[in-house]
Amino acid sequence: MADTEKDILRGGQFLVKETKCEDVFTPEDFSEEQKMMKDAVMEFNEREIIAHRARFEAKDYALTEEVMRKAGELGFLGVAVPEEYAGLGMGFVSTLLTCDYISSGTGSFSTAFGAHTGIGTMPITLYGTEEQKKKYVPKLATGEWFGAYCLTEPGAGSDANSGKTTATLSEDGKSYKINGQKMWISNAGFCSLMIVFARIENDKNITGFIVEYNPENSNGITLGEEEHKLGIRASSTRQVFFSETVVPVENMLAGRGEGFKIAMNALNVGRIKLAGACLDSQRRILTTAVTYANERKQFNTAISEFGAIKVKLAEMATSAYAGESATYRAAKNIEDRINMRVAGGNTHQEAELKGVEEYAIECSILKVAVSEDVQNCADEGIQIFGGMGFSEETPMEAAWRDARIARIYEGTNEINRMLSVGMLVKKAMKGHVDLLGPAQKVQEELMGIPSFETPDYSELFSEEKQMIQKLKKTFLMVAGGAVQKYGPQLEDHQQLLIAAADILIEIYMAESAILRTEKNVKRFGEKEQSAQIAMAKLYLYHAVDIVEEKGKESIISFAEGDEQRMMLMGLKRFTKYANYPDIVDLRNEIAEKVKAEGKYSF
Ligand SMILES: Cc1cc2nc3c(=O)[nH]c(=O)nc-3n(C[C@H](O)[C@H](O)[C@H](O)COP(=O)(O)OP(=O)(O)OC[C@H]3O[C@@H](n4cnc5c(N)ncnc54)[C@H](O)[C@@H]3O)c2cc1C
Repeated sequence: MADTEKDILRGGQFLVKETKCEDVFTPEDFSEEQKMMKDAVMEFNEREIIAHRARFEAKDYALTEEVMRKAGELGFLGVAVPEEYAGLGMGFVSTLLTCDYISSGTGSFSTAFGAHTGIGTMPITLYGTEEQKKKYVPKLATGEWFGAYCLTEPGAGSDANSGKTTATLSEDGKSYKINGQKMWISNAGFCSLMIVFARIENDKNITGFIVEYNPENSNGITLGEEEHKLGIRASSTRQVFFSETVVPVENMLAGRGEGFKIAMNALNVGRIKLAGACLDSQRRILTTAVTYANERKQFNTAISEFGAIKVKLAEMATSAYAGESATYRAAKNIEDRINMRVAGGNTHQEAELKGVEEYAIECSILKVAVSEDVQNCADEGIQIFGGMGFSEETPMEAAWRDARIARIYEGTNEINRMLSVGMLVKKAMKGHVDLLGPAQKVQEELMGIPSFETPDYSELFSEEKQMIQKLKKTFLMVAGGAVQKYGPQLEDHQQLLIAAADILIEIYMAESAILRTEKNVKRFGEKEQSAQIAMAKLYLYHAVDIVEEKGKESIISFAEGDEQRMMLMGLKRFTKYANYPDIVDLRNEIAEKVKAEGKYSF
């Protein structure tokens, strides 16, 4: 495993540097300790959450709080918290796997868990002073207190820095008075602590504060009624009103005007954790769907025998597999970078902050990809159940409703798509990722005479890995051309940014699935990994189609005449298989395995 600065790819560098399969972490690499954690969390999920699914659907908010408290007693709320603040002090991969395996019972609990352990606690562990951490983090890590995160306002959603909530310093300089309104605040109904963002005077940027909340001594804090939501019904979501709420100056987080930075960095962590939180839902949806499909007979045949259903089973398994591959790959990159920084003399706090910030691009990619995959998976789950899928009696409709929010919070998928490309361009400008050199090479290749030789693709994944390189060239061609044409005005061309983001996302997801499988084939053999090989190939096949479509629409929009023709020819070359995979065969192989095992078993 990579353990030096040189060996660890920087965030976004996956696009221009080769990653060897030995250098990616996969779920098959979980340590014994991680496996034990996973088992403990799964057992908790079955016993405390899945067994009571109906109560969550009936908006039993008290149950959410009760189960959160139990999670705290078992240490699950403090997995990421250092031991000196009553946490378990485990690494980033363990944090991710806890989020993953605790989240599939209901989106209600998963949201409460994510909001508390992520955006409710992390701003203090990442930015708090020693006194703040000592005072608050142990309470949050053990579940004695629950945390909420108050950023969004009626007029400030995606434009998070535009909030109107104010913080005014008292005459004696000892406290701030907070006034304003926040909305969509998860955990508001049972929290004891809020991370509140407010503006001091006419500051350009908002400031973060730790605000204690005790309903019996409300300090000017009142809550709106519970929102009636499409999904995550037992997750407490309320408006929060602040009227002359007094907060001691020592409860300011980081410094004045640092709030926007805190908010964004807390969201980076939140985004990859949200991706993790969507994974086990996908596994569970597939397992539930295949169990039904194996039992349900129509035309005297189990519906899982029908090709139309096999397509769904195979595609659902494939997206979950790619999601796992990419999420744990990035999680381990983050963990390695944190450890590397600690070894280099950073405090754990600095190391964690910088480690996650480094991979903000990957965090956005994962948030978008996995949140959309879980939604598609739930949608197909309903379809496999037919009419029963539409009934509240089966878990599919709740899974579908719960999945929908993941595309909205932690930054909408539109915002995250644009962020992923925007951050990459910024990194290139700062010299952290060399996009210019590789983009120029692609330009030269486009002008040169293409080779008509067919390489030897007999070795497993040799063509697929070559294809990934070509997709990367496509991104460099499209994004490079767009940057050349529009310069800093590129950010006004959102359709182009979104198309580029789709290409970026597909590259990361497809490459991660291939590298994971290649690594496992070397360990476990080709025969044992046969369905995984099929999934990696199937995912790539779709990725190539998406890249071709998005590349084409982009090129046509910004290039003209000869330049357009040259780029379209390049696109054709970069998205052409020498040997097309037979995707019907691939899907059949994957579906047969899922059917035979009766579950997602990869
Ligand atoms: C159930 C739930 C729980 C939540 N929990 C919390 C919480 O605990 N704490 C908290 O602070 N917030 C929370 N939120 C708020 C959530 O983060 C916001 O809803 C989200 O950031 C989007 O903001 P908005 O709803 O104001 O939508 P808007 O920002 O108004 O966006 C509406 C649409 O316009 C698009 N859009 C907006 N700006 C742009 C742009 N510049 N370019 C292109 N498209 C754009 C968006 O992508 C979206 O499609 C929660 C929301 C929900 C529904």
